Amino acid sequence: MDTTQTFYVAGHRGMVGSAVVRALRRRGCGRILTATHRELDLTDQAATRAWFAANRPDVAVIAAARVGGIGANSAANATFLIENLLIAANTVEAAFRAGVRRLLFLGSSCIYPRLAPQPIPEGALLSGPLEKTNEGYALAKIAGLKLCEFYRRDFGALYHSLMPTNLYGTGDNYDVVGGHVLPTMIRKFELARTNGDAFVDLWGTGTPLREFLHVDDLAEACLHALDLDDPPDLMNVGSGREVSIRQLAEMVRAATGCRAEIRWDASKPDGTPRKLCDSTLLRSLGWEPRIDLEAGIARTVAEYREALASGDIRLGH
Ligand code: GDP
Repeated sequence: MDTTQTFYVAGHRGMVGSAVVRALRRRGCGRILTATHRELDLTDQAATRAWFAANRPDVAVIAAARVGGIGANSAANATFLIENLLIAANTVEAAFRAGVRRLLFLGSSCIYPRLAPQPIPEGALLSGPLEKTNEGYALAKIAGLKLCEFYRRDFGALYHSLMPTNLYGTGDNYDVVGGHVLPTMIRKFELARTNGDAFVDLWGTGTPLREFLHVDDLAEACLHALDLDDPPDLMNVGSGREVSIRQLAEMVRAATGCRAEIRWDASKPDGTPRKLCDSTLLRSLGWEPRIDLEAGIARTVAEYREALASGDIRLGH
């Protein structure tokens, strides 16, 4: 990677984008462009074209998206589809028009069929029906990765994608209604601990299996992918370790020191039964995760407490 190039990180205030900015800085990249949502609305094609034409970065990392957990997604598939579709279409097209030489598009492992073989290889894409709770988000991300593939094939632009597994870590969203499971558990157990509550209510049956990756490991995977001269169009990024939601709850409870009892609310959705990425491809190219789940959760709980104390915490979209 040429660290003298100009990088644009879309979504730099989000968990993934901010981790990518930190990783680029660690590498010594000095020219990192960002734009807040207020400065640039990526769902606005004219504004996105104008921004790219004016700024002409060498490399773009597309980490901007409307994201959320199972509650937010299942309640708003239309919004998740249209906003993420517009962001993908506008950024890829505007980048190409502005001569951006390299683009890395970030998606999610929910692009794969609900009942894909486990661990899920990249080849499982479009081999079966999607999980309904996040179908809108998944369809938008599939369109985005295909846009990159087709722009590369048709026009020779070096645009490619990474599909990370469930992420957590620094700068996460702690909204208990719309957030993802891991930060939501941290917040629920912390609230129960400080309030002295007897119970913590969690969703579903606790039996689904999920894989979790710290966002700093993903950020290093992004740089690793950008270092490759001829990257595969699509690569999974996961830790390779699967835990049940019930095991995760015990881990988070232990990390917070909460003594409350867990109650499972089976009227809430479980989502896809299993979602473990096969990350052999990226690993074979030299990347590996460094932050194990217990250490990552402990660090994230500490960061949550600091963020809460300083008032610098995201509790909603
Ligand atoms: P997913 O991995 O795309 O399904 O999204 P999430 O990160 O929201 O994880 C959802 C899984 O965690 C489902 O199996 C839920 O039933 C389970 N879960 C248990 N408690 C909670 C909770 O409080 N919030 C969320 N979002 N999920 C929970």
